[in-house]
Amino acid sequence: MKDQYFREISYFRISLTPVCNFRCIYCMPYNQSFDKVNLIPMEQIEQIIKVSAQNGIKKIRFTGGEPLLREGLLPLCHKISNKIGIDEICLTTNGSFLKDMAKDLKKVNVKRINLSLDTLDSKKFSDITRGGKLKSTLEGLDEALKLGFKVKINTVLMGGINVDEISNLVELTKELPVELRFIELMRMGVTKNWQEDVFVKNDIVLDKIKGLKQIGNFGVASVYKIPGYCGEIGLISPISSCFCENCNRIRMTSDGKLKPCLHSKEEFDICNLSKEQVEEKFKEAVFAKPFQHKLLRGESETNRTMNLIGG
Ligand code: SAM
Ligand code: SF4
Repeated sequence: MKDQYFREISYFRISLTPVCNFRCIYCMPYNQSFDKVNLIPMEQIEQIIKVSAQNGIKKIRFTGGEPLLREGLLPLCHKISNKIGIDEICLTTNGSFLKDMAKDLKKVNVKRINLSLDTLDSKKFSDITRGGKLKSTLEGLDEALKLGFKVKINTVLMGGINVDEISNLVELTKELPVELRFIELMRMGVTKNWQEDVFVKNDIVLDKIKGLKQIGNFGVASVYKIPGYCGEIGLISPISSCFCENCNRIRMTSDGKLKPCLHSKEEFDICNLSKEQVEEKFKEAVFAKPFQHKLLRGESETNRTMNLIGG
């Protein structure tokens, strides 16, 4: 299905919950309350995915919050992995429950896992995630690789916090068959008022790591490699190298709002609708995709924090 700028939309990112066992400093406020969480039921998500598949969606990514915390994830994956036209089910996770869940995720045909890892220092990991354990995330990574998932590591670069670890993180690609993706910090939600010097451009990776060979642009990432290393390095640069022109995504929040863009204010309520109405709403949201986000001129237009959208 095409949007108003003739972009083919084939990738649906679905947030399953805003709840998370971490509270990363750049993602959610430390005191956000989850007393009343309004979740779109799994049966409705399944119906929406089926309709989306009939309208050109080929790839689904579950995210959150922490998607592994949502009850019913495994049966949902199982139901959509067969015969409805979805080619790939993917997941973005903080990795802390992955060691225990990876085998089950494999059984229900999850193919790709993106795991967030901003530092290799346990103390810093605990500080950034506000209490997370580096060891659990690394064990999750290990298990996912053992089981043969295609794994990408997401690292959000922050000036004064983890840029000193770029080389150490890149060294992970020496032995591990992963794409390590450096993501530029976006000014949205809790980071709206952060100081300018925390927002570093991905060029810093090219400055610090000598000998990177560019192997191409794939989706939103420019991908590089150190010759002889097993893995790759991806640069996702929404600010310094905007990729909106080639955007193929549509999103749904865990409370059942379609979002034409991660950064848009506009939302389309897709809860409690008939199949025909879901299809109409889906087409409307796709058509409404903006040409470009407004980050280049300052900050995101959305009032939601990242965990309330699904990164
Ligand atoms: N809990 C899962 C995780 O951490 O991977 C999935 C949800 S999380 C919101 C998805 C991704 O969004 C993570 O890789 C996280 O680093 C990224 N993220 C959160 N806030 C961000 C921000 N302000 N700028 C850039 N990336 C951000
Ligand atoms: Fe949780 Fe992921 Fe947000 Fe961190 S980035 S608080 S792990 S949702």
